[in-house]
Amino acid sequence: MSTLRVCALYPDLMNIYADRGNMVMLQRRCEWRGIGFELSGAGRGDELDPGAHDLFYMGGGQDRDQQLVAHDLLDTKRDALHAAAARGALVLGICGGIQLLGDSYELGAERVPGIGLVDLHTVRGDGPRLIGNVAIEVSLSGLDGPRVLAGFENHGGRTTLGPGTAPLGRVLRGHGNDGRSGVEGVHQGTVLGTYLHGPLLPKNAWFADWLLATALGLAPAELAPLDDRLEDAAHESARKAAGL
Ligand code: GLN
Repeated sequence: MSTLRVCALYPDLMNIYADRGNMVMLQRRCEWRGIGFELSGAGRGDELDPGAHDLFYMGGGQDRDQQLVAHDLLDTKRDALHAAAARGALVLGICGGIQLLGDSYELGAERVPGIGLVDLHTVRGDGPRLIGNVAIEVSLSGLDGPRVLAGFENHGGRTTLGPGTAPLGRVLRGHGNDGRSGVEGVHQGTVLGTYLHGPLLPKNAWFADWLLATALGLAPAELAPLDDRLEDAAHESARKAAGL
């Protein structure tokens, strides 16, 4: 039997907006299918084994929490995360997580360093926080067409992708990376980042399955189907309400 091995980075600090629910979602969907699930946490000071996990995950955080973990991420986890991504492990960052996977997060005079796993940088700026419901259209390998991710964003940082760096999706409703460019998140190799909370995965069961399958080296269609009628109906009514 296969086992999905997940490592949550800083589960105590990088866990705003119930982002921990993403882990529960993966666990349940594995269990319901008879797939094993192993979750480990890596906090400050903990070294990472790049070969020991199929998915590395970092949730969102307050600016203060990000400041608390940034140097530890650089000193004890950066090299392992680069090695993990290079061998094909998935890395997923949510909100504060996507910011720290990039080059840096500038907060006024302070520069919070990121680990440079994806080519993007983030600036706090003077404008209002970008808050509200958001829907993005994404195209991912192994799916038969574009799909919609739904979530909630609340970030002060504006993220700019480096030249040639692909976003995760196109904004249908909401602000996205910077409120201007019409793009949301990042998708570079096996590294994915997004501003979407919700938590993200319970709101988007199909994406949880895409991650699960991809992390295990399977096509999404190879996973045993689950009864997602409630989730699908929620998506459908949200789409209608948003005029999509
Ligand atoms: N602190 C970051 C910002 O405000 C990320 C917030 C979050 O994770 N929701 O931009």
